[in-house]
Amino acid sequence: MEPAIEGGDPACWLHLVCPECGRLDPDPERRVCRACGAELPDPEES
Ligand SMILES: [Zn+2]
Repeated sequence: MEPAIEGGDPACWLHLVCPECGRLDPDPERRVCRACGAELPDPEES
């Protein structure tokens, strides 16, 4: 539940975390989870 990332606004990396499997993908350009194929949240969507 807690990604090993600290010192930043959660919103900065929230879109990097797969909502389905919880995997943190370091590639901000990726739109689909590399692990389970789920769609990742759109970082430009507020
Ligand atoms: Zn996933």
